Amino acid sequence: MKQPRLTIVVPCYNEEAVLPESSQVLGAILNKMITNKQVNPASRILFVDDGSHDQTWSLIQQYEQTEPIFSGLKFSRNFGHQNALMAGMKVAGKYSDAVITIDADLQDDPKLIPEMVTRFTAGSEIVLGVRNDRSTDSRFKRFTAETFYGLMQKIGVQLVPDHADFRLLSQRAVDALMEYQETNLFLRGIIPQLGLPTTKLYYRRQPRFAGESKYPFKKMVAFALDGITSFSIAPIKAIMSLGVIVIGISLLMMIYAVARFFTGNVINGWTSLMTSLWFLGGIQLIGISIIGEYIGKIFAEVKHRPRYIIEEDDYSARQQPVLIV
Ligand code: UDP
Ligand code: MG
Repeated sequence: MKQPRLTIVVPCYNEEAVLPESSQVLGAILNKMITNKQVNPASRILFVDDGSHDQTWSLIQQYEQTEPIFSGLKFSRNFGHQNALMAGMKVAGKYSDAVITIDADLQDDPKLIPEMVTRFTAGSEIVLGVRNDRSTDSRFKRFTAETFYGLMQKIGVQLVPDHADFRLLSQRAVDALMEYQETNLFLRGIIPQLGLPTTKLYYRRQPRFAGESKYPFKKMVAFALDGITSFSIAPIKAIMSLGVIVIGISLLMMIYAVARFFTGNVINGWTSLMTSLWFLGGIQLIGISIIGEYIGKIFAEVKHRPRYIIEEDDYSARQQPVLIV
């Protein structure tokens, strides 16, 4: 394939502060690739507005009017980053040979985009952007990320450490990805499972260009938990091991209690009784809540609710209709 048709998907949630800059940067890169004949002139930048409350959508509409390479898709409300990516890829996949996803805040290096396309033309179906330097992230973010990737590796989930959602997927990879119908989406866990030819490109992650992170601590923890429970039942198995350990301890305590009984000093056991009572209660509660987490997942999955609702799709509307002769 000489000049692939490329769509760059950009999820946006309240990004009015960065959009003027990122649309300009991304637009310049894509236009240059079109002029260099690296990609097809029908290549596009697709902004997915994930139910923003600020001027994001009206900015996107402005860009659409000024330059045809920009187009937008609008969710009816906020459905989350992963769903915004999924919708963008699905819509774009119909009209593109390759789709690149990149955050709106320019933290991922857009200069990598031409190189990603070169790898694609050379035969890679998936090209992953990997951060080789997190020095611009806060110490706390680095620590939590390291712990998370370490834990995932330990429980046997295949992940590419320090790869987030900056990647290129071929149309075939997008189609394969769409077969995954789960409500609880954790894209960076699913992508390695596709098994298609993959290459990695390394880059330095920048600080956010403007605005604030849309992943506050609470959302980050929820996302990490989602990742673990969507791909592994290791936590449930851990309860089992914990149970075995506790039974071991209680056996020892039983022997101790019986020995005390024969020495005749039985009323004294209040402390050990109380501590073990609280300890076991705690373990049981943790156990139930872990199982509950999985039941919650099953609950969400069996409902088969739509992952997102599209209110406006200017991208598909502007594509050439297929002529049936
Ligand atoms: N985002 C989104 N929906 C959300 C939260 C975030 O579409 O509910 C987008 C956001 O606009 C950005 C990307 O996802 O383009 C990554 O978010 P952010 O930069 O805030 O995350 P961080 O880099 O801090 O992890
Ligand atoms: Mg960011």
